[in-house]
Amino acid sequence: MEYAKKIIPEFLSGGGEMGELIRTKDWSKSSLGYPEEWPQSLRTSVSICLNSSCPLLIWWSVDLIKIYNDAYRDLIGAKHPKAMGSKGAEVWAEVWHIVSPDLKGILNNGESTSANDQLLIIERNGHPQECYFTFSNSAIRDETGNIGGVFCVVTETTKKVFTERHPSTQLKNLFLQAPVAICILRGKEYVIEVINERMADMWDRRIEDVLNKPAFDILKELRNQGFKELLDNVFFKGERFVAEELPINLKRNGKIENAFVKFIYEPLLEEDGTISGVMALAHEITEQVAARKRIEVSEAKFRQVTNLMPGKITNTDATGKVFYYNQAWIDYTGLSFEELINSGWDKMIHPAELSKLQAQWKLAIETGKEIDIEIRILNKKGNYKWHHSRSSAVKDDAGKIKMWISVTTEIQKIKDEEQRKDNFIKMVSHELKTPVTSIKGYVQLLLTMIKEEHEVLLSPIPIKLFLTRIDKLILRLSTLITELLDLSRIEADKLELKKELFNLNELIIEAVEDMQFTNPKHIIKIHHDFKCNIYADKGRIAQVAINLITNALKYSANTDEIKLKIFKEANSYVSVSIQDYGIGIDKKDHQKIFERFYRVVGKSEETYPGFGIGLFIVKEILSQHDGYITIESEKDKGALFTFTLPCV
Ligand code: ADP
Repeated sequence: MEYAKKIIPEFLSGGGEMGELIRTKDWSKSSLGYPEEWPQSLRTSVSICLNSSCPLLIWWSVDLIKIYNDAYRDLIGAKHPKAMGSKGAEVWAEVWHIVSPDLKGILNNGESTSANDQLLIIERNGHPQECYFTFSNSAIRDETGNIGGVFCVVTETTKKVFTERHPSTQLKNLFLQAPVAICILRGKEYVIEVINERMADMWDRRIEDVLNKPAFDILKELRNQGFKELLDNVFFKGERFVAEELPINLKRNGKIENAFVKFIYEPLLEEDGTISGVMALAHEITEQVAARKRIEVSEAKFRQVTNLMPGKITNTDATGKVFYYNQAWIDYTGLSFEELINSGWDKMIHPAELSKLQAQWKLAIETGKEIDIEIRILNKKGNYKWHHSRSSAVKDDAGKIKMWISVTTEIQKIKDEEQRKDNFIKMVSHELKTPVTSIKGYVQLLLTMIKEEHEVLLSPIPIKLFLTRIDKLILRLSTLITELLDLSRIEADKLELKKELFNLNELIIEAVEDMQFTNPKHIIKIHHDFKCNIYADKGRIAQVAINLITNALKYSANTDEIKLKIFKEANSYVSVSIQDYGIGIDKKDHQKIFERFYRVVGKSEETYPGFGIGLFIVKEILSQHDGYITIESEKDKGALFTFTLPCV
């Protein structure tokens, strides 16, 4: 009543129905007070709000009191008119936990917020309703610069969200977002009814320029490339058309360019079975085709280069299947490329090396390990020739094997040379053996005949001493000859074994006694942990023991103890270990010392005579008895050799 008497403030003039409501409302119970007392910032905001045709809303003060315009009124249904001038918490009790944090945040920090299609379950018509709103909130500052309230622009998007959810809308969206270029051409004029960005890009056109227009009116550059005929075939005959890699001229940045596409034309059937249009799906593959062509070109270059090489080169896929042989293979085998591919490489390999090669390939495919092997390969004349073959894996960035490249080189000449050299050594050793044995006999005869007194009487020269030295040197010479002959036998696979049953401990005792007699400086001790018989070539096993003891003595000149131990191993095996405290062997040489002619290079080793054959023979003798040898040693810390054999 009192209010009616007051003069209506200027800012409330006009403003539609909500303007009228504010003017006539009794504001005495509102914490906002009478409009003429409202701060200037609120007045200005209300004036803007009321005179806008967009839904606008003001939340004022810490109570977040609502003032809104006509357009907003339509969004809140039965909550109007009570909502006008009421506290937000009362009007929107059901969604206040969602809405209020943003509004309070703005009152505190002034930072604007917004939301798209925000879901709010509200009760504007007496029952809960799923509604969606898009809104933006910004702070309203008062004259002092403080934040007085929040200005909210809001639109309801419920209809839009529901439409988007509709299956046909979703399908269309799916279409438009598909990762391939896609369009629907309707009728025999092929009117572009639906088209996505990718297809428009491929045509170098904008969607709005082509939509609802006959395709060939727009795409003039495609008119004479046979596409109309293809489409007619689909449209009139209902036959689906698929092109895997079609060259096409496309307009790009205004210029015509050559491109490649993969595409499908699919007839669109109506419920009654008639064809009403064509769906076109296209995927540009220009890059892939170019990349493939680059690989073809580089492969051709690779093949050209490999064909000029004398070495035999193969390409094998990750699983070990050969897909390429170079010209050298064709020349060597006399087979054509196709015959080589189809016949399989295993038929060309000498049976003696085949299983070893197959095992290496199996391991290589599993582990990526390089293959390095000597094999005999059949040539076109039916002869096997020795080859050295190396295969290594080609891997991708992730380390996965893509293929294998193998280079195989003929080494028959080298093998022949080696054979000639071996034959020569064998021949020389044989020729030397007889005279050396005779010399040794004569020297020993002389030694037994000459008595000390004779020596003194006959000459001032120490004949017996010299003869003893000659005898030792001859022993070295005959050991070397024996080793060289053994080497030749091993190489020719002719190391014959005469196996018998004997006691290993007794054999070792005998060997040690002999060695102890001629090497009094060292004390050689034997420890028998285990006693056993073995079935083996007695002479050869004695040779193994003597060889190892000789080395132990030879390479420990500055110490005076050698220890032997005979002990049991698991699974009916027996071991003999020979420990010295001499110059020792560096870890890097542990494997190599068992190769023939290998001697460790170093100052200390240079002072010891030898040819690097002994351990090779030892290893071979043991392996022919199903035994083996191991070494534990460090430089300057002595050496422990252990040989192991099956026992009875
Ligand atoms: P060699 O006739 O040279 O002794 P071996 O085949 O018996 O030939 O030994 C090969 C090499 O191994 C030797 O040259 C030596 O360098 C090393 N070697 C063998 N036994 C010992 C050992 N007990 N101590 C240190 N080095 C050894």
